[in-house]
Amino acid sequence: MSFARRGLFSIFRIKMPRVNAWLARHGGRWLLVDSGKPKTSGALFDGIAGACLKPRDISLLIITHAHYDHVGSAGRLKRETGAPIAIHGEEAGLLRTGGFEISDGLNALGRVRAFLGRHAAPRSMFAFEPAEPDIIVESEMRIDGFGFPAAIIHSPGHSRGSISLLADDGSLFSGDLAISQPLPGIWSHMPIYGSSARDIKKSWRMLLERGAKHVYPSHGHDFPAKELESLLSRYGEN
Ligand SMILES: [Zn+2]
Ligand SMILES: [Zn+2]
Repeated sequence: MSFARRGLFSIFRIKMPRVNAWLARHGGRWLLVDSGKPKTSGALFDGIAGACLKPRDISLLIITHAHYDHVGSAGRLKRETGAPIAIHGEEAGLLRTGGFEISDGLNALGRVRAFLGRHAAPRSMFAFEPAEPDIIVESEMRIDGFGFPAAIIHSPGHSRGSISLLADDGSLFSGDLAISQPLPGIWSHMPIYGSSARDIKKSWRMLLERGAKHVYPSHGHDFPAKELESLLSRYGEN
């Protein structure tokens, strides 16, 4: 767990094996974005304790999409925090049933890994405890009613029902829509899996126009949103 930044929100990164969850505090209230892989709930709950929190201090859980590395501890979190889970309608069924889906590969590495994930990896690797979602997001939802000056926004491209959390100070919790990885060029922030690379870029543009300033991704370190702007101008938006 590490402190990331203080703006309108205080933001803490919970670093788990190859994936992050993000804790954000505003006005004494806490939310959590994503829940890591299955079987790593110990690391997640250690991270929560590391921020000097009890699970019951968290008042909202946001699941950016229902891939196994984001929903892994959603069931345990819901039981131990008592907080509602927000997810997009397109992803709710996978969360509810413990279902399994891997997006298509967007480059050669992604295609190989998607094939291996679908056909060679043991299903037990992806199994997670299902959880009943409480808040179904469609296009957009403000969460001021929970005490957070922010909006959950549908931002498809990595998966059809991916959502992002955009705070009013420009902090963007992007899930896998925009990530950080040690690959050069356009792949530095583009996920290698997705439902549509074009939709990813459209969602980047939309979030930049909505005021995104700094990105907190579910994979890798945080980065300035202007890096997405420069990728869009270098590689085009179609
Ligand atoms: Zn994903
Ligand atoms: Zn992921």
